[in-house]
Amino acid sequence: MRINVLLRCTVCEEENYLTPKNKRNNPDRLELKKYCPRCRKQTVHREKTKR
Ligand SMILES: [Zn+2]
Repeated sequence: MRINVLLRCTVCEEENYLTPKNKRNNPDRLELKKYCPRCRKQTVHREKTKR
């Protein structure tokens, strides 16, 4: 049930992080505050599913 998802900055839409998540524990779309190198600050990153 473990899949990799891309985390994309909601401000500039840069895809900054690739992270495994457990689909069973975490079925909803992830939203995390993370540092974006392009924005050069913490922004909300949203999941973009990748197989
Ligand atoms: Zn950004």
